[in-house]
Amino acid sequence: MESEAILLAEQFGAMNYAPLSVVITEGKGCWVKDENNKKFFDCLSAYSALNQGHRHPRIVKAAIKQLGKLTLTSRAFHNNLLGEFLKKLTEVSELEKALPMNSGAEAVETALKAARKWAYTVKKVEAGKANIIVCKNNFHGRTTTIVGFSSETQYRENFGPFSEGFKLIEFNDAKALGKAIDSNTAGFLLEPVQGEGGIIFPSEGYLKEARKICSEKNVLLILDEIQTGFGRTGKMFAFQHEGIKPDVLIVGKALGGGIMPVSAVISTKDVMNVFRPGDHGSTFGGNPLACAVGLEAIKVIEEESLSEKSRVNGKYFLEKLKQINSPFIKEIRGKGLFIGIEIKKEFVSAKPFCLKLLKEGILCKETHDLVLRLAPPLTATKKELDFCAKKVRKVFEIPKEFKFD
Ligand SMILES: *Cc1c(COP(=O)(O)O)cnc(C)c1O
Repeated sequence: MESEAILLAEQFGAMNYAPLSVVITEGKGCWVKDENNKKFFDCLSAYSALNQGHRHPRIVKAAIKQLGKLTLTSRAFHNNLLGEFLKKLTEVSELEKALPMNSGAEAVETALKAARKWAYTVKKVEAGKANIIVCKNNFHGRTTTIVGFSSETQYRENFGPFSEGFKLIEFNDAKALGKAIDSNTAGFLLEPVQGEGGIIFPSEGYLKEARKICSEKNVLLILDEIQTGFGRTGKMFAFQHEGIKPDVLIVGKALGGGIMPVSAVISTKDVMNVFRPGDHGSTFGGNPLACAVGLEAIKVIEEESLSEKSRVNGKYFLEKLKQINSPFIKEIRGKGLFIGIEIKKEFVSAKPFCLKLLKEGILCKETHDLVLRLAPPLTATKKELDFCAKKVRKVFEIPKEFKFD
């Protein structure tokens, strides 16, 4: 019997998603329950928006406290938490100024506006000529401008016409970056690890090289760490693996502590000072509830050493997974608790494996057809990861006694 909740969602909702057939009603830590009280281990973490786990007690408490005081003022007035929240963002990223938004896509749009205005007013690019370089296989969100520079046909098809001023180059190719930059280039926007693109790690040294090229050519290095940030790859931010710093950092997802959308752009004074009152805004951006939640979400990552936990437990989990002997698997790769299992092309889709894992009590989702993303909350214990690895093994290994005939 199809669940009533699913029937209603299908009857009254736009079909822009194809969710697995499970109806979640409760969540706590790494676990959720469905309508029939069946428990599942959450190995997707809402695309890394749940790094701190479901309903982290500290974050829930901070939200409830703020709900009892003040939730929304708009930016027409000051609120007492905004400054402290923005200060925290600059401290964890070692940058200088931040601009709060809500969703990830909005923060990306904000970064694009900042880079363009910086190009015209600071770098002195001729009016209307600024370009921004992006990578093939990127994912930066779903607005019309952003899908306009996607290399994914489905993301673009029938949604044009699109904004001009973007150049696509290969990811993980520093030479291509050097060639693509011209005197009108404002910035180079990329994900340090391509998440939706299939958990693709660039070669070691790539970000460092990109940093060097951008500095030499006076081009802003803009990193989208909406998915990789806040401990996911075993450091607070993925750029810290290479000892570099971006000019512009885009954060979201886990910044909302699994409670509400909170995003931000963090940058240097040089870039952020291009904004004048009226240039840009958001009714909900920087609201006091979001500030209270965002601040606590960062403190939980820091004070519970979740980046370190992600690094250590991620290594442990990855080693366990790599012991799986399966004819279906082409490669298992990962950094921290950001892990992709790529299946061989001849098996067409990773979806059947997700469905099998669902039956086994593991929630996960394929990305880019062939890759199964394993990204549990960073609070997961070794024991929980053992449980997960055991189920993955069960689904991927063909038992020794099995015979084809
Ligand atoms: C999820 C994601 C976005 C978009 O964030 P939304 O909150 O869904 O708008 C942008 N960039 C990256 C790298 C993401 O993973």
